[in-house]
Amino acid sequence: MCVKPKPFSYSCPSCDWKKTVFPKSDVLLPGEHYACCPKCGSKSLDLETLKGVTKLGLGLLQKLFT
Ligand SMILES: [Zn+2]
Repeated sequence: MCVKPKPFSYSCPSCDWKKTVFPKSDVLLPGEHYACCPKCGSKSLDLETLKGVTKLGLGLLQKLFT
């Protein structure tokens, strides 16, 4: 059984850094995982999954991020 990875976004409560990740597989690649904020170094990142994002919405988001 294959579970499709869901997009999620990191956000830093200490600064305004935010990053949305669209995993291509269930193995996170470099650039898809952050243990700490690359901007201020805070290790208390919030991790949110994107809820209610349609495929069309995802396509638009991916255009914005590339
Ligand atoms: Zn930060």
